[in-house]
Amino acid sequence: CGGKPEDERIVKTLGRIKHKIVVLSGKGGVGKSTVSANIAMALAQAGKQVGLLDVDIHGPSIPRLLSLQDAKPHIEPDHMEPVPYSKNLWVMSLGFLIPDKDTAVIWRGPMKLGLIKQFVRDVSWGDLDYLVTDCPPGTGDEPLTALQTFGPQAHAVIVTTPQGVAVDDVRRSVTFCRQLGNPILGIVENMSGFVCPSCKAVHNIFNSGGGEALAKEMGVNFLGRIPMDPEVVRSGDEGFALMKVQAESATALAFKKVVEPI
Ligand code: ADP
Repeated sequence: CGGKPEDERIVKTLGRIKHKIVVLSGKGGVGKSTVSANIAMALAQAGKQVGLLDVDIHGPSIPRLLSLQDAKPHIEPDHMEPVPYSKNLWVMSLGFLIPDKDTAVIWRGPMKLGLIKQFVRDVSWGDLDYLVTDCPPGTGDEPLTALQTFGPQAHAVIVTTPQGVAVDDVRRSVTFCRQLGNPILGIVENMSGFVCPSCKAVHNIFNSGGGEALAKEMGVNFLGRIPMDPEVVRSGDEGFALMKVQAESATALAFKKVVEPI
């Protein structure tokens, strides 16, 4: 009643998505994209219908992580089909739309806002159990637009590493979500402990537990720890799905555990 037609379309699309999950981190390089991709895969492996949306406009890394660099979404005049990764996991990223991976995307706030809204409004996500959105680090335009487009029903997952400096950044992400009125599903501590390449056991060579301590202090759920695993780097570089190829590894099991409460 009186709403703009494009906004009505967003409402309609969102009405078909049961859970909207937005993955945030206080700073770059903590493994947010890796965690987003693996959370989406773990949910898909659990039999859910899952969409994975990459709104990292300046550095979209989801296509590479899933070995979908050459994929192109099917584009119709009034909508776009997301790229299928498996029978129940679909992906959309600006990386699919820019001509080559070396192209720098120079966009200002309002253009980013338009693109993110378009990714929700014009992509035929269909009926999904989960839409997992990978945001660039920090609390800038993209996470703000993503959370505002999804509204208060979007739940945040915050990724950190165990080091104190990353933990400080998490406080900002927690405050950001609280100011916007978005519930926080919990904190994931990534690169927590090290998977020995020969014996495959997880060793705590650096401090771990910083994320858990912070979660407790800030009254946020702790979703779990993902170890530092050379196989995660290899799977990211080569685009193979660790969740599929090494489904019983300590790291894959850690991702499965992280999605249990989600
Ligand atoms: P972000 O999205 O936070 O910038 P990425 O997901 O791109 O971070 O990860 C940054 C780098 O760290 C990548 O090379 C990735 O393979 C590596 N990485 C992420 N998580 C892990 C992990 N658990 N073990 C080992 N390497 C990891």
